[in-house]
Amino acid sequence: MPDHIDRPNRESPAAATAGDWSGETLGAALGRAAEWTIDYRARVEQRPVFPDLAPGDVRRALAEAPPRTPEPFERVLADFDEHIVSGLTHWNHPGFLAYFSSSTRAPSIVAELLVAAVGVNAMLWRTSPAATEVERTAVDWLRQAVGLPDTFSGLIFDTASTSTFTALLAARERAGVAVRDDGLPGGPALAVYTSEQSHSSVEKSAIAAGLGRRSVRRIETDAAFRMRPEALEAAIADDLERGIRPAMVCATIGTTSTASIDPVPALAAIAKRTGVWLHVDAAYAGPAAMVSEQRPLFRGWEAADSIVLNPHKWLGTSLDCSVLLYRDAAPFRASLALTPIYLESGNDETNLMDIGLALGRRFRGLKLWVLFRCAGTDGLAATMRRHIAMAEAAAARLVEGGVFELAAPVSFSTVCFRAAREGDPAGEERWNRKILARVNAAGRSFLSHTELDGRYTVRLSVGSVHTEERHLDEALEALHRAAADLSPGEPG
Ligand SMILES: *Cc1c(COP(=O)(O)O)cnc(C)c1O
Repeated sequence: MPDHIDRPNRESPAAATAGDWSGETLGAALGRAAEWTIDYRARVEQRPVFPDLAPGDVRRALAEAPPRTPEPFERVLADFDEHIVSGLTHWNHPGFLAYFSSSTRAPSIVAELLVAAVGVNAMLWRTSPAATEVERTAVDWLRQAVGLPDTFSGLIFDTASTSTFTALLAARERAGVAVRDDGLPGGPALAVYTSEQSHSSVEKSAIAAGLGRRSVRRIETDAAFRMRPEALEAAIADDLERGIRPAMVCATIGTTSTASIDPVPALAAIAKRTGVWLHVDAAYAGPAAMVSEQRPLFRGWEAADSIVLNPHKWLGTSLDCSVLLYRDAAPFRASLALTPIYLESGNDETNLMDIGLALGRRFRGLKLWVLFRCAGTDGLAATMRRHIAMAEAAAARLVEGGVFELAAPVSFSTVCFRAAREGDPAGEERWNRKILARVNAAGRSFLSHTELDGRYTVRLSVGSVHTEERHLDEALEALHRAAADLSPGEPG
């Protein structure tokens, strides 16, 4: 054990009793953590993508009670490596192709450290002026990079779920229900419109906003899993006739199963005609508007009242970083702003705590700002362009041989497919479940699944800076081998 770890903290007795470190000890620990980080990233590919563990295995390896006295960081780091990292699913593994794959770009790791180093709380402008202004700047850079007009501004939340929930509160306010003062009971019933392919966070937002699940109209989609505008129009008309007030239309660019794209221009026209708030959920795909040839897929989103994009997905900031853009701050402030006397500061226009539920706010803007500075918009766009090309090439090769078929059009960097068994739905599902389980158990690739048209579907999504063509080759080979080895017939 290096002697500096145990050396008493001479320069600051107060810090020593609090278990803090001297500058020298901190430097040594940061150095060890930096070495560990570099090594982890260099060799993560040698680890299985996800661990072979049962619930409780990790907890059994950890002490049952906290230590009463400080332990040396070396020992903590060793336990982290041995018992914790071995129990992680490695999102930064290049074979991670599940869900919406994401990874941490190196500059974001360093930015996360700097956020912790300054440890500020950006609740009010004056509790850390630069934190608020960096956040505004980073959000505006993102707005410019994705080609939205400067009528949009915004801020950063933890997740898209929070962003969408906050937008729904603003939409509820604008629907003219005085919930802020009177609460929900007694007001008119409200409705939210979103496609049957939209993310569960839309429904969850309706639950949390007190509208209830039954207020959510899951509008039917077409053969390419896009919301049908005429079905939306009919649902709104039906509600209006029954005295139900439409509160929000939530369109999606990049739905969760297939990354399909709702026809936003048509939906925006309906929202405008009926005076309903339009929210666009582009949590995954939004950053791809930085890729010039993808930009046309975002047509119409500039008509939205609010838009959510998650830099912590495809852009590669560390979790968490979700950007909410809006056209008008007034309904957001009207829904939640509340300043107790002890927080009055005279800069109320610039206090980000007024938008959203949380008071304390992390300095997330720094992660996005550092990432833009260190990667550049061309660099960020190039990565996404490469991912899209890799997904398209993988889809083309996947269907060669006739075993696998695409279950949806390839959209952005997401491919939905299955080994098809016409006329044998039960056998088909069994076969695909077995194929996916076999491929994932090998620990080299990790894919996920969904259901489309009532059929079990395998999903592959490219979104990690670590993923190269050879990782997709490996996944495709494993899929074809599993399909050949496993029979659709027998259960198990
Ligand atoms: C990932 C995703 C969400 C949820 O994101 P969180 O940040 O985890 O809340 C919502 N909508 C879409 C389209 C997504 O891809």
